[in-house]
Amino acid sequence: MPLVSMRQLLDEAAKGGYGVGAFNVNNMEQIQAIMEAARETKSPVIVQASRGARAYAQDRYLYHLMLAAAELYPELPIVLHLDHGNSVETCKSAIDMGFTSVMMDGSLMPDGKTPSTFEYNVQATREVVALAHAKGVTVEGEIGVLGGIEDGHGAGVDALSHVTDPAQAEEFVKLTGVDALAIAIGTSHGAYKFAKKPTGETLKMQRLIEIHQRLPKTHLVMHGSSSVPQDLQDVINQYGGELKPTFGVPVEEIQLGIKNGVRKINVDTDNRLAITGAIRKVFMETPEKFDPRDYLKPARQAMQRVVATRMQQFGQAGHIADYAPISLEEMARRYAQAAKA
Ligand SMILES: [Zn+2]
Repeated sequence: MPLVSMRQLLDEAAKGGYGVGAFNVNNMEQIQAIMEAARETKSPVIVQASRGARAYAQDRYLYHLMLAAAELYPELPIVLHLDHGNSVETCKSAIDMGFTSVMMDGSLMPDGKTPSTFEYNVQATREVVALAHAKGVTVEGEIGVLGGIEDGHGAGVDALSHVTDPAQAEEFVKLTGVDALAIAIGTSHGAYKFAKKPTGETLKMQRLIEIHQRLPKTHLVMHGSSSVPQDLQDVINQYGGELKPTFGVPVEEIQLGIKNGVRKINVDTDNRLAITGAIRKVFMETPEKFDPRDYLKPARQAMQRVVATRMQQFGQAGHIADYAPISLEEMARRYAQAAKA
């Protein structure tokens, strides 16, 4: 089916009470791994590309790879989402390219580093909502600042220094009309999220529940939500890697989030770990090999296993039949109608 809006997916997920993983891509093998995992588990799919990914792969390669995916997997509803758009212009360029969903991260200034003001965030996000909704494209906003840095994006702040304020989140959604809202509850981008298994002090699930109570109709998004499982860390270190001990977001906490309004869960690090571990293994065990397929194929399989597992755990598996694709034109018409009401 054609690429669909993220709003449609998240609305269906809310009806069905499940979450949808959003997996980052930079190249063909990662797209293939996600698509195979989705077919295997009969899951709707959100594929997302960051600014870094768009620069690395070049926009048009990524976009055409996604069109190929839609053609090869006609049974799957697929969303192409921009992760962490840093400015109105970045979001606009993604919409012009054919992304069906964009994130305007106005929690940071356009440099992608400096925490912004609430007023700036509202104004930039409103602008993106206006131009995206006119084309039926979904918008995710962010309120509060996430920890860590990824692909050069992030304030590098402590994950608990800018936790989302529930009253401000409510105000933000009212003023901007975003479809989905990323919140900061103690998670960070990258592999080093928590020094030990997170507790209620370091991962503020209670805060998330409060936000959901204030915004029962807004789809919440958890960023930095790789679980960083020990076995993936072990493979890397067993084959010559040097990861320091670290903890991610436990799957059971994500599942608690899904019971409380979380509809999109961003996972990148776990896939990076799986890919790197698989490649290291081939290099260490068979140093005589030099055909890239000899290590990219197991890398792709390792990522597919992680993605399929998350699709089961988030509850999206088995849900492809929920969808009759709604065109972006129809979505645009619905937004225009809602604005009049
Ligand atoms: Zn993020």
